[in-house]
Amino acid sequence: MRALVAALALVPLAGAFRATAARGAVAGSAVARRAAPVAAVSPGIAATSASSPRFLSAELARRVRAEFGTPVYVYDAALLSAQARTALAFPAAYGLTVRFAMKACPNRAVLQLLRGHGVWIDASSGYEVRRAILAGFKPEQISLSSQEMPDDIGALLQMGVEVNACSLAQLEKVGCAAPGARVGVRFNPGVGSGGTGKTNVGGPSSSFGIWHEQMPQVKALLAKHRLVATRVHTHIGSGSDPAVWQQVASLTLALARELPAVETVNLGGGYKVGRMPGEASTDLATVGAPVRAAFEAFAAETGRRLRLEIEPGTFLVANAGALLATVQDVTSTKGSGAGGHDFVKLDAGMTEVLRPSLYGAQHPISILHAAPAAPAGRVGGYIVSGHCCESGDLFTCAPGEPEELLERALHAPQIGDLCVVDGAGAYCAGMATKNYNSFPEAAEVLVGLDGTPHLVRARQSLEQVLANELPLPPAAVQGQPAAAAAAAARE
Ligand SMILES: *Cc1c(COP(=O)(O)O)cnc(C)c1O
Repeated sequence: MRALVAALALVPLAGAFRATAARGAVAGSAVARRAAPVAAVSPGIAATSASSPRFLSAELARRVRAEFGTPVYVYDAALLSAQARTALAFPAAYGLTVRFAMKACPNRAVLQLLRGHGVWIDASSGYEVRRAILAGFKPEQISLSSQEMPDDIGALLQMGVEVNACSLAQLEKVGCAAPGARVGVRFNPGVGSGGTGKTNVGGPSSSFGIWHEQMPQVKALLAKHRLVATRVHTHIGSGSDPAVWQQVASLTLALARELPAVETVNLGGGYKVGRMPGEASTDLATVGAPVRAAFEAFAAETGRRLRLEIEPGTFLVANAGALLATVQDVTSTKGSGAGGHDFVKLDAGMTEVLRPSLYGAQHPISILHAAPAAPAGRVGGYIVSGHCCESGDLFTCAPGEPEELLERALHAPQIGDLCVVDGAGAYCAGMATKNYNSFPEAAEVLVGLDGTPHLVRARQSLEQVLANELPLPPAAVQGQPAAAAAAAARE
């Protein structure tokens, strides 16, 4: 095994990122901060430093707003399809399954589009399993890796859903529910890597997966319940470093060596995607090539030809989605003193895109003027804030610093203008603080290969926000609590 690790380590990684600029999308490093567009606040700035939308033309954006209102998520079928094709070309020696980590964007239309390309499903909860089935996936196309093993795991296994036990207790639960079943085992390989601490899910600080040194306990549980471990699984984080990811590939093969019935090695997802201009994206062909070589070396040595599974979430959807919002206010705290800012307030916020508030994540932001003929306007530095009553509801924080304001170069936004927040296809609609301040869940639109925007989730109504609230009986809100009344009567 050591030979395999060494072989992987020798592979040059310089080409693993497609672009070489701007490391650390959300790392908050001094370099990243200097590279951020804060410089645009200085006078005489070039107009090109304000970004333009990745795929939404001004005409299409106006049409989407006119038909469906804002805020609205817009997904692009052509971009989703292109990413699916790239993922399906991941280098693999003995077969490949690409599973979409559906938590990144669970809308049925997106699931169905990816299913059409032959992409299968990585579900992160029992509910996601059911949701994928409702979207048309066969149970055997779905694998579950969850922090919480659903209580109906026996029924799911019976249907043909694959499961990766992510803790010893989960393995025990699977064994009790389905003795003799085929099972996957998710390990924590001892190292992790993520774009931020919150998205790193490997190493000693992470509770994800079975610690790699607990193989004896794993083997004991397999034997106790006559379970057959046919798959080993690792996923070390989102936005992971390709070098660490490759190292984990070899560590995972070492775990597969310990479990002779393993036929499939699942290396998870986490492929870093550049959202901001100049940020690099992982080149799958480059990271995959040495992994394929390692699988071949493993086969030469052991005679076992392992199938590869990968689980991209971000990679498939991040840049194929945008949030379209409306500028609903422009204010300023620039007075005689220092430290003021010009603020742009959108009709959207952490209720649609939580990532900046949660991670200090950076998303490209562009202004499109409401009137087609309006000039682009002078570029200035602005803070873009959301509509929630939270000072942390910000679109323009410093990289990795959710509470630190960082001005963004924008074309003089005016009330009523359109604002496009790009890179919003992954972990936005699925992860928002929906209904905070009682704002309804935003609509979702998918621009088809026909170029037409189709509504794929309607905006919530207030009635839907309140649908599950129940009235209290009058006694529960009138007079004293029963205990206090009894105590008063005793005195
Ligand atoms: C979230 C997750 C993924 C996808 O991560 P991305 O960073 O979106 O690619 C893959 N596998 C598992 C088990 C996950 O939890």
